[in-house]
Amino acid sequence: MQKSISLLGSTGSIGRQTLDVAENLNIRVAALAAGRYSPLLEQQVRAFRPALAAVYDENGARELKARARDLPVRVVSGEEGLIEAAAVQEAECVVTAVVGTVGLKPTLAAIEAKKRVALANKETLVCAGEIVMNRARETGAEIIPVDSEHSATFQCLAGQAGRALRKIILTASGGPFRGKSREELGRMTPEQALRHPSWKMGPKVTIDSATLMNKGLELIEAMRLFSQPEENIDVLVHPQSIVHSMVAFEDNSVLAQLSVPDMRLPIQYALTYPGRAPSLTAPLDLADIGSLTFEKPDEAVFGCLKLARRAASMGGTAPAVLNAANEEAVGLFLQGKISFLDIEAYVGLALETIRNISRPSLVEILMADEEARRLVRARAPGG
Ligand code: MG
Repeated sequence: MQKSISLLGSTGSIGRQTLDVAENLNIRVAALAAGRYSPLLEQQVRAFRPALAAVYDENGARELKARARDLPVRVVSGEEGLIEAAAVQEAECVVTAVVGTVGLKPTLAAIEAKKRVALANKETLVCAGEIVMNRARETGAEIIPVDSEHSATFQCLAGQAGRALRKIILTASGGPFRGKSREELGRMTPEQALRHPSWKMGPKVTIDSATLMNKGLELIEAMRLFSQPEENIDVLVHPQSIVHSMVAFEDNSVLAQLSVPDMRLPIQYALTYPGRAPSLTAPLDLADIGSLTFEKPDEAVFGCLKLARRAASMGGTAPAVLNAANEEAVGLFLQGKISFLDIEAYVGLALETIRNISRPSLVEILMADEEARRLVRARAPGG
């Protein structure tokens, strides 16, 4: 079990649940990082007494420093602050739970410092998965996935010879709009899209699960984590969200990982791996649930999944473009500026328009990310 962690993104959904797990397992929180000041962040600093707190926003850092004067905490700011928190000596493990490409450099810093990385920041693997995984192999830093599907896959693969794997089957809840037609999708509002049937998550990932882009990003994440080509990763809609993913082996045996949907379990596994410990997650009662159902995703209705497969097979900077265009478009949708189906239209446009660079450097990846954001913002109403 990891004795101490640094938590990047402490006030978000995964961050708060990570603190629940840390408290329950008596794991010390050596550093906390968040995007801006909030009363919650101050509360967390008071409760967990980290030696270091990083606030991305300068003003927020100043405010936290002023309010936490009575505590022995050092407050840092900006990207350098986040990087410092990722490499802090007192932490054995870094939980990266920030949303967006802002997680990329801190994750690399944690890898350079040979920390275990409990990775909950999808964008890092989607945009720069090859660079990140190569660096981890070179330094020997462990990367343990926190995303529930990838944690499930990781758990199914434990103790198996890598070559024996035939397919990874990522399960998807199908989101709140499962079974809807394109016409109906066009009319969906942010309020409707934010009503997820089985998982409690932040707004960005909840919209992504309504468009199925979340599964598309997870498909790319799985390719990088488990060194698999795109065609070896299937997506299966499973509305009960009990089977978190499966692995099919060459003998056609399939292993699955099941639990009630609760992110605290994959978070905890990343901290206790290879061991296990009693958790805050409720026991699974399959008799109570009764039946588990599975169906193929409707790629004709949910175009984002198809776009993600296309970006995955294009490789290079295409996944970064896909991710950045999607992040911008989701933001515009949440602000009520574009329609639900416009999200996939903007992402498709960015993939078609922006030149793909193969074997990109980190700088080229970040440039492609910025270019995609600019394109979406410029095309958007009022942009
Ligand atoms: Mg997931």
